[in-house]
Amino acid sequence: MTRTIAVTNQKGGVGKTTTSVNLAAGLAQSQKRVLLVDLDPQGNATMGSGIDKRALAVTIYQVLLGLSTADTVRVRSPAGSYDVLPANRDLAGAEVELVALEHRETRLKGALATLAPQYDFILLDCPPSLNMLTVNALVAADAVMIPMQCEYYALEGLSDLVNTIRKVRQNLNPNLEIEGLLRTMFDPRNTLAQQVSAQLQEHFGEKVYTTVIPRNVRLAEAPSYGEPAVQFDRACKGSQAYLALAGEILLRNGFGQAA
Ligand code: ATP
Ligand code: MG
Repeated sequence: MTRTIAVTNQKGGVGKTTTSVNLAAGLAQSQKRVLLVDLDPQGNATMGSGIDKRALAVTIYQVLLGLSTADTVRVRSPAGSYDVLPANRDLAGAEVELVALEHRETRLKGALATLAPQYDFILLDCPPSLNMLTVNALVAADAVMIPMQCEYYALEGLSDLVNTIRKVRQNLNPNLEIEGLLRTMFDPRNTLAQQVSAQLQEHFGEKVYTTVIPRNVRLAEAPSYGEPAVQFDRACKGSQAYLALAGEILLRNGFGQAA
C-alpha cells in the first residue's frame, strides 16, 4: 500500500520543504521507494533535491494540465535515491488555468494513480497558501503532515487549515486524515515555544510527533549544495531529527522497526 502524505501549512517558511526533502531522503535511506512531488512554483523541493529547475522542459505543470504524464516528467534525485516530480515558475500559471478545467480538484490524484503502486511513500510539498494546488494535494493525499513553528500565531493559522481539511473531507476526500503535527525550528530555551508546544499536545494529543526538529543551520545550508541535509551531513542534529521522524513515520504506518 502506498501512503500519500501532503506536507502542508499555508503559513510561509515553517519548514514544509525542508521536511519534505529530508523525509524523502530519510525514508529512501530506509530502503523505501519514495516519490516527492513539488507543488510550489518556487521549486525549492526540486532544487533541494539536486535538480536544476531552470533546465526542465516539462514539470508538474504539464502533468496537472494533462499535457504530459507523471511517468515522463519524473526525475531521479541525484542526491537522494528518490524520484521527484519537479516544479518551476511555470506552475504559477496553473492556479489560474486549472480553474477553467474540468475535474480541477482531482487532477493530481488522477495523474498519480498509475505511478502510485511503484512507491511506498508519496510526499507532496505544498505551497504556502490554501489554493487550488493545495486542494489538489489534499484530494490526492491519504493524510496531512503539518510542520509548524511554535509561535504565538501558530494555533490561529492552524484552525484555518483544519477547516480546509474538514471541507475537503466533506466534499472531495472523505478518508483524509491528519497524519501528524511536526514542531520545526524548535528552540527548547524559548519559553513561548515551550508553551505553544504544550498547547499543541493538549489539543492534538498523539497527533503531535514525538520527534521535534531543532533549529539547526546545517538544515538551512544543505539546499545550497543541492542535497538533502540527511545526505549532506548525516550526523548534524537536524539530520538526526529528520531520520528519527522517518523512523516514527515508518512505525506509525505499520512498517515495523525502522532500518
Ligand atoms: P515556503 O512556505 O516558502 O514554501 P517552507 O514552509 O517550505 O517555506 P522551508 O523552505 O523549509 O519552509 O524553510 C524556510 C527557511 O528556514 C529556509 O531557509 C530553510 O533552510 C530554513 N529552515 C527550515 N528548517 C530549519 C531548521 N530546523 N533550522 C534552521 N533553519 C531551517
Ligand atoms: Mg516550501
